[in-house]
Amino acid sequence: MNILVINAGSSSLKYQLIDIANETMLLKGLCDRIGMKGGSLTQKTADGRSFRIDEDMPTHKEAIELVLKALVDKEAGAISSVSEIGAVGHRVLHSGEDFHSSVVIDDEVVRICEKNAELGPLHMPGNIACIKSCREVMPGVPMVAVFDTTFHSTMPPKAYMYGIPYSVYQQYKIRKYGFHGTSHKFVSEEAVKYLGAEHSRIIICHLGNGSSISAVKDGKCIDTSMGFTPLEGLIMGTRSGDIDPAAVEFLRVKLGMTPEDTVQYLNKKCGMLGISELDSDMRVLEKAISEGNEKAALAVEAAAYRIKKYIGSFAAALGGVDAIVFTGGIGENSSYMRRLVMEDMDYLGVVFDFEENEKRMDGLHVLSDPESYVKVIVLPTNEELSIARETAALVSAAPAMA
Ligand code: AMP
Repeated sequence: MNILVINAGSSSLKYQLIDIANETMLLKGLCDRIGMKGGSLTQKTADGRSFRIDEDMPTHKEAIELVLKALVDKEAGAISSVSEIGAVGHRVLHSGEDFHSSVVIDDEVVRICEKNAELGPLHMPGNIACIKSCREVMPGVPMVAVFDTTFHSTMPPKAYMYGIPYSVYQQYKIRKYGFHGTSHKFVSEEAVKYLGAEHSRIIICHLGNGSSISAVKDGKCIDTSMGFTPLEGLIMGTRSGDIDPAAVEFLRVKLGMTPEDTVQYLNKKCGMLGISELDSDMRVLEKAISEGNEKAALAVEAAAYRIKKYIGSFAAALGGVDAIVFTGGIGENSSYMRRLVMEDMDYLGVVFDFEENEKRMDGLHVLSDPESYVKVIVLPTNEELSIARETAALVSAAPAMA
């Protein structure tokens, strides 16, 4: 079965067509500038054929129509008819407290997503608009919502509660939700397979432009670093991560910002970009460090220190660790960041192989010494495949649609 995986933002839409039988990506593409002038679709097949259409897409509906045209294009597509798409998997940011796993989309699911849109105002409107358009353009094709949050829905209340009045939590659903769930799920499942043990305590470090860590016990998330929004936790590319809420109000007054601007500021202008006052991109920062830039060095050290502290606290939450896994653009590629994080971790039972860490790697790579009590692993994430797997599993289990 071919699964169309869609990750829609407010003005862009990324997609992949995946043949789930052998878990291969057939093609991937991007619709850019939806709702604006100068729209375009770019697509590349697994065998290297590239394709571009310059066409305005006033809404997500026109974008989906263009995607379907590109998928079946004789020269640049991968299928000959839309009927070869068995199901669509939609990445949806927020499940609220309503869903604890992925779900087959029907009118009620759309209604609940609309109710939860206020929990993710930057992403949810684009996600929902795309789901509605797809249902209109592809009637009869089963669709699944795969949420960024549901992998973390197994967290116990003591992990997700903030120290606020219970009635306020209940009324407004203000609590830790966690994000990057498709990545944490995919990587923890692969790590469990690799460890091959019945019981496992794993810390997943998803380090990219956005970064988060989760503690996974016997395959279930028990805690994670992101919170009510993806702003909490680690020092990221442009996000501040944990910060005293009173400092936020102080900063807001001093910089003369509105509350909305302040949240935007903490999301877009802080993190490693803010500390370095240079860039959020790890490659740029590493180059600057090699040239002696002290603020770039401080930015990366502060980010690594925060990761180290989360690893320590999650080790305590798990009651020990069997494996620490690195994934995401930085986790998979930056030996510099991994080294800073893994220095002086002997207390935890880690014997880190610093030489192995410097090697080029492709696929799963073990960075701990054979005698290390804790395995340290690099494991490439694949969020689209994770969404396709969830979609295929649900669609296969669901009764056939009329
Ligand atoms: P992601 O959001 O997962 O795509 O990760 C993006 C981050 O990964 C950016 O900060 C990149 O600079 C970083 N990254 C990608 N490749 C490398 C590399 N070879 N070395 C260091 N950082 C990298």
